[in-house]
Amino acid sequence: MTLSGPTAEEWAAAVAAVRSLGADDEIQLICHVNPDGDALGSMLGFGLGLSRLGYTRVRATFPGEFAVPGPYSALPGSALLVPEAEAWTGPRLVAVFDVASESRLGGLAGRLTAAPVSVVLDHHASNTGFGTVRLVDPAAAATSVVAEQLLARLGVELDAEIAECLYVALATDTGSFKFDMTTVAVHELAARLIATGIRPGEISRRIFDSRPFGAMKLTGEVIGRAVLEPGAAGGRGMVWTYATLADLERHAQQPYVLDTLIDPVRAVAEADVSVVVREVAAGEWSVSLRSKGAVDVSGVAISQGGGGHRLAAGFTGYGEAAQVVDTVRRLLDEYLN
Ligand code: 5GP
Ligand code: MN
Repeated sequence: MTLSGPTAEEWAAAVAAVRSLGADDEIQLICHVNPDGDALGSMLGFGLGLSRLGYTRVRATFPGEFAVPGPYSALPGSALLVPEAEAWTGPRLVAVFDVASESRLGGLAGRLTAAPVSVVLDHHASNTGFGTVRLVDPAAAATSVVAEQLLARLGVELDAEIAECLYVALATDTGSFKFDMTTVAVHELAARLIATGIRPGEISRRIFDSRPFGAMKLTGEVIGRAVLEPGAAGGRGMVWTYATLADLERHAQQPYVLDTLIDPVRAVAEADVSVVVREVAAGEWSVSLRSKGAVDVSGVAISQGGGGHRLAAGFTGYGEAAQVVDTVRRLLDEYLN
């Protein structure tokens, strides 16, 4: 694991891999399962850039059900999206976005070895180091930062469509420019993106501030059952809640509406650590972990086969929600005592 970004050789290898392609060569872009704003935004922004360079056979996909979360359904470049089953089977190039480990590629993991070159664009410190060309920058606030740098090296000029995708990705992963990763470089990139004419207010409303009524009711119910444990996490405090598939069904909501549930939970002042456990299949739970700074939650996530960053990480847990929370509580105590 390294905290330095891609080397000059790695950048050169990625540029050479793209430049070696013919205009009709098949190019497959893949982002992680349950895609979020950074996964889709960096992938589609880069895909549009490839189209601008004249590549005609660019397809973008992600593993699992072909359901693009409502807020991202109108992203520019969406025409490049195809269901997993329609991904190129033997592409000349694969590029992977925001994927920390191959497990996040589901049934598409094999596509990396089916292509002569696979370029991995990512910013997770926990990235496991797969792919033939690795552009992994743990200091980057979003994968779109890496994507924009590669586009620049390829001579692609930013336009409003590319910029909207990259902006959505950047705004998503910086919590709308609030997290620690929000550096001078992040604001400089945002400025260049906004200079193309995109409208940040309009984009934010669509992406972050627009949810169905049922999603609000569901969120209210799930927040209502949150538990605060002041003594957990070595006395630093832990707050947690869970949501089941039955909860989603009762309110007729799609899973993505709970992607931001961690935000009100992690605002609880009495707890350093926040945990949201969401059921994704019977007895299978997507676990989100956050810390305000006192705890490295990526250690817990990695020990459970997941990953992420120091203050924001996740893993997949099994059994009952309470068992998954028990595991997190126990691991936190082990790490902190
Ligand atoms: P979130 O809680 O928003 O789903 O994820 C927080 C961070 O942890 C993100 O950087 C995400 O990529 C990472 N993460 C979440 N779940 C998993 C997982 O199952 N495996 C890995 N490797 N990373 C995860
Ligand atoms: Mn990301």
